[in-house]
Amino acid sequence: MSENLLTILIAALVLVPAVALYLRGLKTRDARARAAAEKGKLYSEGPKAQHPKIDTTYCIGCQSCTAVCPEGDVLAMLGGKAVIVSGYKCIGHGLCADVCPVGAITLVMANPSMEANMPYLTPEYETSIENIFIIGELGGLALIKNAVNQGRDCIDTITARMTARGGQRADDDVIDVVIVGAGPAGISASLRAIQNRLSYVTLERDEIGGTVAKYPRQKLVMTSPVEFPIYGKFNKLELTKEALIEFWQTVMRRVDFKVRTGESVEDVRRGDDGVFTVATSKGQHRARAVVLALGRAGIPRKLGVKGEELPKVMYRLLEADHYIKKNILVVGGGDSAIEAAMGLGHQPGNSVTLSYRKEAFSRIKERNAQRIEDCIRKGKVNVVFNSLPAEIHQDAVLLEVAGEVREIPNDYVFVFAGGSPPTDFLKKLGLQFGVKDVTLEASLEAQQEAKAAKRQ
Ligand SMILES: Cc1cc2nc3c(=O)[nH]c(=O)nc-3n(C[C@H](O)[C@H](O)[C@H](O)COP(=O)(O)OP(=O)(O)OC[C@H]3O[C@@H](n4cnc5c(N)ncnc54)[C@H](O)[C@@H]3O)c2cc1C
Repeated sequence: MSENLLTILIAALVLVPAVALYLRGLKTRDARARAAAEKGKLYSEGPKAQHPKIDTTYCIGCQSCTAVCPEGDVLAMLGGKAVIVSGYKCIGHGLCADVCPVGAITLVMANPSMEANMPYLTPEYETSIENIFIIGELGGLALIKNAVNQGRDCIDTITARMTARGGQRADDDVIDVVIVGAGPAGISASLRAIQNRLSYVTLERDEIGGTVAKYPRQKLVMTSPVEFPIYGKFNKLELTKEALIEFWQTVMRRVDFKVRTGESVEDVRRGDDGVFTVATSKGQHRARAVVLALGRAGIPRKLGVKGEELPKVMYRLLEADHYIKKNILVVGGGDSAIEAAMGLGHQPGNSVTLSYRKEAFSRIKERNAQRIEDCIRKGKVNVVFNSLPAEIHQDAVLLEVAGEVREIPNDYVFVFAGGSPPTDFLKKLGLQFGVKDVTLEASLEAQQEAKAAKRQ
C-alpha cells in the first residue's frame, strides 16, 4: 500500500466517526431545542415582556447567546441558528445581544397583547405627559442594572432640558424633580439628581431599597456591571441582599441623600404653568418634573378567604429560620412561593405544604424547577396542585383539592399570589397606555444602528 493511500485511510478512519458524532450532536441539540420550545408553548404563547429578536440572516450559529443567558433556555440552536424557545423566561439581562459578534440580536419590548398593559414611553422614558417619566420595573424592564441605568439616564435628560431652558428658575416653592419610589431606580435617579445639582425630593411609602429590601435574608442577588451615580463603575456580579443595601447606604451617606419614607404619593396634577403638584399622604410638593419609580410589585394580592385577617397570615418571608417545628402552608406557584417553601422546608421539624391552583408550575426559573423536585423527593415540601385555601382557622387550614375539602394542621400561612401593579394609579394620572409603534421603531432603529456599526 502506498504511503498516500495509508494517509487517506487513517484520515478517513478518524474523520468519518468525528463528522458522524458532530452531526448526531446537532440532531440532539435540535431535538432538545424543539422539546424546550414545546415546553415553552405549554406555559405561554411566547415572550410576555422584553425578549431578544434574532435576525436570522445575520446569525452565524456561534452559540455565544445560548451560552451566556443566565436564565437558561430562553434561546436555543435550531438548524444552526439561534431561536427563542422559552421567551417567557427572559427578564432583560440583554447579555445575548451584547455578546453576539455579528449584531444579529436586538432586545425588544413586549408582544402586542402585552403592550396594552404597559404605559406608553419614549426612548427617554417620558410618558404621554411631558415631564412625567417612568423608570425601572414599572416601565416593563426588570433587573436592578436596568433600574439603575434608567434612573441615571432619565435625570440626565431632565438636566439637559433644564440647561437648554437656561438653568434653574428662581421660584423657590418649585423644585426641579420629585422622585417617587426608593428602589434601585429611585435611588439611582436621586443620586444622579444630587450629582447634577438638581433640587429634588424622593418620596417612598415604605422603606429604602424597594423590592430588594423585601428579598429573604441573605438572598444572593445577581447583578451586572453598572455605572452607579456618585460611585462610578460597580463591578460585582453576585452579592447578598444585605451587602447590596449596605453599598447603597454607603454611597447615600457620602452625599447626605435624604428620602421621605412613609410618604405615599396619591396624585400628580399638572398646572397650566407646566408645574406639577404631587399630592401625598403627608402634604404636597411642587416640581417641574416627576419621575415615577414605583416598581410593579404593588400591593400584595389577597386570597379573599375567611380567616385571612389572622396575624399568622403573611405576604412575605424575610427570615425562614425564624420558623421551626411548625406546620406551614405556602400559597402560590411562582418563584417567590417556591423559594419560600424550600427555605421553610429546610428548617428543622417543619412540615411545609405548598398549595398551587394550577396543575403544574409554570414560568419559574429552571434552577427552582429542579430544586423543588429535589425537595419533594426528600419530603421537605409537600406540593398540592389544583388546590385553593378555602378557610383559615387558628390551628388549621381548609384546603379545597379538586372539589374536595381537606383539613390540615397549620401554624402559619404565607401567601405569594402576586401583587396588583399600579396600573389604575397611572390611569388616574391620565397617562396613555400601549406602546406606540414610533417608540418601538425608534428604539429598534437606534439598536440596529449600533449593531450595524458593530458589524462593520
Ligand atoms: C424575589 C425576587 C428576586 C429578584 N432577584 C433579582 C436579582 O437577583 N437580580 C436582579 O437584577 N433583579 C432581581 N429581581 C428584580 C428586581 O428586584 C427589580 O427589577 C427591581 O427591584 C426593580 O426596581 P424598581 O426601583 O423599578 O422597583 P422596586 O424595587 O419595586 O421599588 C419601587 C418602590 O416604589 C415604592 N412605591 C410604590 N408606589 C409608591 C407610591 N405611590 N408612593 C411612594 N412610593 C411608592 C415602593 O414602596 C418601592 O419601594 C428580583 C425580584 C424578586 C421579586
